[in-house]
Amino acid sequence: MGRNRLLSACQETDKVLNFENFILEFDMKSHNICVVGTGYVGLVTGTCLAEIGHRVVCVDSNKSKIRYLNAGKCPIYEPGLPELLKKNRKAGRIAFVDSIKDGIQHKGRRAQVVFIAVGTPPRPDGSADLSAIEAVAADVAKRMTDYTIFVDKSTVPVETGEWVKKTIERINKRGVPYDIASNPEFLAEGSAVKDFMNPDRVVLGVSSKRAEKVLREIYAPLKGPILATDVKSAELIKHASNSFLATKISFINAVSRLCEKVGADVTDVAKGMGLDKRIGPSFLRPGIGFGGFCFPKDLEAFYWICNKKGYDFKLLQEVQAINKDQKQWALEQVSELLWNLGGKKIALWGLAFKPNTDDMRFAPSLDIVEGLKEHKVKIAAHDPVSMDNAKKVLKGLTFAKDPYAAAKGADCLILVTEWPQYKDLDLEKVRKSMRTPVFLDGRNLYDPAKMRKLGFDYRSVGRP
Ligand code: NAD
Repeated sequence: MGRNRLLSACQETDKVLNFENFILEFDMKSHNICVVGTGYVGLVTGTCLAEIGHRVVCVDSNKSKIRYLNAGKCPIYEPGLPELLKKNRKAGRIAFVDSIKDGIQHKGRRAQVVFIAVGTPPRPDGSADLSAIEAVAADVAKRMTDYTIFVDKSTVPVETGEWVKKTIERINKRGVPYDIASNPEFLAEGSAVKDFMNPDRVVLGVSSKRAEKVLREIYAPLKGPILATDVKSAELIKHASNSFLATKISFINAVSRLCEKVGADVTDVAKGMGLDKRIGPSFLRPGIGFGGFCFPKDLEAFYWICNKKGYDFKLLQEVQAINKDQKQWALEQVSELLWNLGGKKIALWGLAFKPNTDDMRFAPSLDIVEGLKEHKVKIAAHDPVSMDNAKKVLKGLTFAKDPYAAAKGADCLILVTEWPQYKDLDLEKVRKSMRTPVFLDGRNLYDPAKMRKLGFDYRSVGRP
């Protein structure tokens, strides 16, 4: 049955997709899949592919992570993921192993498709470190016995596919047939399961009709449109998309600075811009800068590859510079509000790079804490879920058991991450417990008039 017929059949029944029924009713083609890397992307990908009916073996070289997963636990905070993991483990559709050897040949089943979802962290020069991609490609190439599709899901610079191909060619002396493909992932942490299951688009960068057919079958149960391209274009779509979104954020942050200078309200400016369908409202929320494992490193890596190919994409450098300024702006606000900082106590609410994740990688809080420490202040911080990860990377501060404890006795409170639960706190109680009620709202979570009425010396981003 064709994909369109499958989808319209589901729409006709007006039901949310129930994938188990889907497989039975529509005879979906189930594939044996190996996913290498069980991080934010690999684990969500593997679990969701199992949920839509495929048999998935997830591989990670981090043995303790695999032991943890095999003990039935979920190593990351991601809404909905633990439940799906449990369900699919129980159904026998997902397994976890610590070697590629066991991943591509598992319980008598050979994986024809290998998704590579390992990390591609930044190197000191800004380029992406692709050594894990090479290692995985080489290991799979050594062991493949029949037609295999190497699907890159990690975010990589354009032409990585060609390097993967060269790597395989050097090893594959027996001439086992294979294809390479690029299938960039667009999920966002905090809504990763939902994003994977309801994609805006599925991009398939393919090098043959055969690979395209298999990948289309794999994604058939999902509703989003499939865009099939060549491999290089798919690689570029991911870098260009993330860089564009980061540009939108830096743009509105720059506008917020002007708003402050003239007494305008950036919220209204962003709203007025966003109502224009050509612009759209998303990613027009000002704050103290973006962070996370994607935007900062992808911007840098995109700039680096553009430069390497002979194009100086200066705009991207400016986007990064504005982002850096925004964190500096926050530190300057604290100095302005408190005059002398030495010995004062600053409370931070939120440490993760955004709400609904425990990910601390490149979180703005890291720069804020470093900047504050230079002034010899005392820092007390709270985050609803990322404290364990934060303790590994942030030293010299106190981690409070709840937001009230963090604020107690503080000279200034900085809202760093807009966790929704911070919105519902007893702010009267918070103000009373502070030494001086100075509040820097780095994410425009609160209403300025209400905060001032409550007695806070309140400042936010680009709002009077
Ligand atoms: P991560 O660090 O959370 O996970 C990577 C995993 O790969 C780790 O568990 C690590 O142990 C494992 N690994 C590394 N080398 C390995 C090897 N040789 N063999 C087996 N396992 C290996 O990273 P992530 O956040 O999941 O990101 C993975 C890729 O996806 C990156 O390229 C990232 O840019 C991209 N991406 C991330 C997001 C996101 O929101 N985190 C979204 C879209 C794309």
